[in-house]
Amino acid sequence: MSKIKVAINGYGTIGKRVADAVTVQDDMEIIGIAKTKPNYEAFVAQKKGYDVYTPADKIDAMNKAGIPAAGTIEDMIAKADVVVDCTPGGVGEKNKVLYEKAGVKAIWQGGEEHELAGCSFNAESNYAEALGRDFVRVVSCNTTGLCRVIYPLDQEYGVKKVRVTLMRRAADPNDVKNGPINAIVPNPIKLPSHHGPDVKTVIPHINITSTAVKLPTTLMHLHTLNIELEKECTAADVKALFAKQPRIRLIGQGIGSTAEIMELGKDIGRPRGDMWENCIWEDSITMYEGELYFFQAIHQESDVIPENVDAIRAMMELETDGAKSIAKTNKAMGF
Ligand code: NAD
Repeated sequence: MSKIKVAINGYGTIGKRVADAVTVQDDMEIIGIAKTKPNYEAFVAQKKGYDVYTPADKIDAMNKAGIPAAGTIEDMIAKADVVVDCTPGGVGEKNKVLYEKAGVKAIWQGGEEHELAGCSFNAESNYAEALGRDFVRVVSCNTTGLCRVIYPLDQEYGVKKVRVTLMRRAADPNDVKNGPINAIVPNPIKLPSHHGPDVKTVIPHINITSTAVKLPTTLMHLHTLNIELEKECTAADVKALFAKQPRIRLIGQGIGSTAEIMELGKDIGRPRGDMWENCIWEDSITMYEGELYFFQAIHQESDVIPENVDAIRAMMELETDGAKSIAKTNKAMGF
């Protein structure tokens, strides 16, 4: 069977990682990536063998910079079965008209609103909902991290209520424009934050509320969760449940911070030092007066990457069983 043709529109933090994750799968391939600027990322993309497309008015600039443009973004879209839109939040929605005109399927990221695609996706929680769909939104890094723990807990014990505080990284490591660099910022001040409600775009019946602060760090987000469950269970039961999940890593072994988790990612040879799984401190998993508490760290640059691969597989109906797609994606990426 021929491989599914995937195009990446927007080759930044998320786009370049999705391109590499698609490349290692045996049922899909990258037919091009779109870059608006001939910067170092475009040079690297070309060196890796990706065809680089660009807006019509940037073709000369790209050629002059020594990166031969393969064509316009519209040319790239015309060759694809599915476009993964990884442009900055709010930009992606403007591209919908391009995808509709070309009759091509499209995936957006968490920076866009649920309504744009009408289907918000997390492989563990609602793979079947994306089967055969034309448009899907892979939810944000934080929402992905929350769905990965809430869904299995709900299946096993029933979730009565979730309260979560998100301690968010202020910027990605390559971002020199955002902050704070020396403050803690309640963000937003008006509560709840959008993160809890966003979980409901994937698992609508969950009762969840969230607060969020921005911290002067670039490495990861950290969540403090407090969950009321319908059925009684012990901390050991929850540890055993999490240990079985394909995209959860229980951490201990002296790891006491997000910095050490990122070092672990490098030590185990992950591309770019990425950590695709939720990292839950095993010793933090506690039952107190019938309520569950734990800490988890989320690598914002990479946890959504395998989810994009699964979304492609579901939309193209390459695999109807979500668990099988997750296993296939994980194996090819080298989890
Ligand atoms: P980014 O800024 O790192 O990359 C975006 C890329 O798109 C850049 O290369 C930019 O030059 C390019 N671009 C801008 N306008 C374009 C256009 N009109 N056409 C084609 N390319 C264009 O952004 P990112 O962090 O990769 O975020 C992309 C999406 O993923 C957003 O929706 C964001 O909310 C979501 N997301 C980001 C993170 C994260 O932590 N970085 C995590 C999960 C989801």
